[in-house]
Amino acid sequence: MARTENPLISIVLPVFNEEAGIKHTIEILENYVASQPEEYELIFVDDGCVDRSATIIQEAEQQYDNIRLIQFSRNFGHQLAITAGIRYASGDAVVVMDADLQDPPSVIPAMVSKWRDGYDVVYGKRLQRDGESWFKKFSASAFYRILHKLANIDIPLDTGDFRLMDRKVVKVLSKMDEPDPFVRGMVSWVGFKQTAVEYERDERTAGTTKYPLSKMLHLSMNGITSFSDVPLKLVNVVGALMIAIGVIYGFVSLFTGFATLQFAIFSMFELFGISLLMLGIVSAYLYRIFETSRERPLYVVAKTSGFQQERRPEIKQINEHVM
Ligand code: UDP
Ligand code: MG
Repeated sequence: MARTENPLISIVLPVFNEEAGIKHTIEILENYVASQPEEYELIFVDDGCVDRSATIIQEAEQQYDNIRLIQFSRNFGHQLAITAGIRYASGDAVVVMDADLQDPPSVIPAMVSKWRDGYDVVYGKRLQRDGESWFKKFSASAFYRILHKLANIDIPLDTGDFRLMDRKVVKVLSKMDEPDPFVRGMVSWVGFKQTAVEYERDERTAGTTKYPLSKMLHLSMNGITSFSDVPLKLVNVVGALMIAIGVIYGFVSLFTGFATLQFAIFSMFELFGISLLMLGIVSAYLYRIFETSRERPLYVVAKTSGFQQERRPEIKQINEHVM
């Protein structure tokens, strides 16, 4: 019902040291929402910024009454910032987008329109990535394809976290307390009616990427360990292969007797290497279990502001429970 009558749409924006561009982002978004028939709230998640980003957002809060701010006690990472933003959102639909305007607001009407048509998740599918290095494009493309092959569920290719989700999807997501979450995979896992809108990913308007290679690798590992058991099966395959090679070699050496010291040393290194690599794979999964078993809160909120004009007080209660 809310889809056709005056709905509220929340836009969640994770922010990590974006002082160079955040003011511009707020202006563009405020201009955008003013031109739309729906009501909007903008939820900024300050993921432990050590620059002026939070101050700039607080200043904007004085000017616009649809701005909300959640401040983490430190940097918890992009995925957890999104998670928190989604949990605090009270919209009938929630849009997640980057704060650097790489995900263009002009795509939102198409997402809203598909949502009004009855889709519960409308994800942005990237056609092009302007202004990013060939390495980033190549590694992202390779990662999406590997994950697509490995994952037990259908995670769409070339989609990041830019998407619109209906309240019922948000409700399920908010109950998923996964440490180190891979949000886009979790959204696919939730199901319901999902569809794509294609868009061209713009260049960052200001500042530099907050996703160095280390964070990208961490995200990729989380994606794989939380949505695929193929690497674990690989351990068995490699094990079986090694045994087969050993048996063949044993037979051959029975007749030829070739066994040199060099070969023995070579085999030793190979064997230790492969075993440790396999142990590493198993440990990555073990670490996920360990993280889950600690039952720590996913993130720590230091402060929130701008939430007083809330349409839905019951949502706040869910959050207090989460904390
Ligand atoms: N971000 C965040 N926490 C982090 C890293 C990034 O909240 O630890 C935010 C960042 O401010 C931006 C979004 O996540 O709004 C995407 O990051 P970025 O643009 O640096 O990634 P890229 O587009 O280069 O992949
Ligand atoms: Mg970006």
